[in-house]
Amino acid sequence: MTTLRQALLDLGFDVVSFARVDGPTPAAHALRSWLANGMHASMDWIARNADKRADPRLVVAGANLLVSLGVNYAPPARPPTGPTWARYALYDDYHDTIKPALEAAGRALELHLGIAPSAHRFYVDTGPVLERDWAARAGLGFVGKNAMLISREHGNWMFLAAIIVRAPAERLDGLLAAPSSAAADGIGRYCGSCTRCLDACPTRALPAPGVVDARRCISFLTIENKGPIPEEFREAIGNRIYGCDICAEVCPWNRFSQASRSLLLNPRPEIARLTLDEILRLTPERFAEVYRRTPIKRIKLAGLLRNACVVAGNSGDASLVPTLEALTSHDSPLVREHAAWALTRLRRTESGPFTR
Ligand code: SF4
Ligand code: SF4
Repeated sequence: MTTLRQALLDLGFDVVSFARVDGPTPAAHALRSWLANGMHASMDWIARNADKRADPRLVVAGANLLVSLGVNYAPPARPPTGPTWARYALYDDYHDTIKPALEAAGRALELHLGIAPSAHRFYVDTGPVLERDWAARAGLGFVGKNAMLISREHGNWMFLAAIIVRAPAERLDGLLAAPSSAAADGIGRYCGSCTRCLDACPTRALPAPGVVDARRCISFLTIENKGPIPEEFREAIGNRIYGCDICAEVCPWNRFSQASRSLLLNPRPEIARLTLDEILRLTPERFAEVYRRTPIKRIKLAGLLRNACVVAGNSGDASLVPTLEALTSHDSPLVREHAAWALTRLRRTESGPFTR
């Protein structure tokens, strides 16, 4: 009979492992300290369900197993010029494309463990579970100083999902006895003396190994943040129009990563082919058409134009001035203010080709 692990791998996941749940997550203390220091910025939902995040047994009563699953999303190559997008954004929204496989994984768990549908719940990056820390405990990798799960096989490029399970204790022994590749909970366990990610962060958003201050992080500022981007960070954003991968890209562990098999992902490389000028000229209709089914649609047109104005201001490209001038009359005050900032910055700096 196919093992449970193999059954889950056959659904298209790149890695699968299991961790025993016998108490709060190992990272519960760090989570509370991070929240207490306000490093979650405006992501208040993280604070609201912190208790559940800290203990999976508050999500599924009597939970004793956590299934950790990963999907490699390393794209083959990055376009050499133009605005830079977070790698994960160059696919259809992974929440949507991974969900059917997680539903199938639930059915496999029911079959193999003899449990009811009410005895398990899955999450992929949107629920009250610390996927990264459980993945480390399950042996899928270790948490680097860049606060990401680092896999020996896939480097930094993995979407993580978790299934919290209540199963008969006698069914767990075989699963949990399975060897793990690099079981380690400690932050930076296999980083050694490397500090490349801490040094490379342009906004100094990694104040300590494994700690991200979202208030300074370009990923937060350009995606989750609904308001203006604080001026002190705009220049450091450079040409990153949506998210930031710098602290992952510099990690030497990525030398082991392979291009994604994309079994549970749908690549959308055309997104990165839009020029900055085309993005700045997007209409609501065109925005909906280009970014449909992608994670980018969630920041809405005003959020993307806000980010594009920052990139334009940093570009040194005087040809963008007329487009930016038009945006100073945009319906959204957010866009108007960022367009005005970009114009001021462009007029202060020398004109030149967009090369960054
Ligand atoms: Fe810094 Fe970018 Fe990493 Fe955020 S994602 S911590 S801004 S390097
Ligand atoms: Fe660790 Fe270096 Fe990778 Fe940072 S860049 S996570 S310090 S190995």
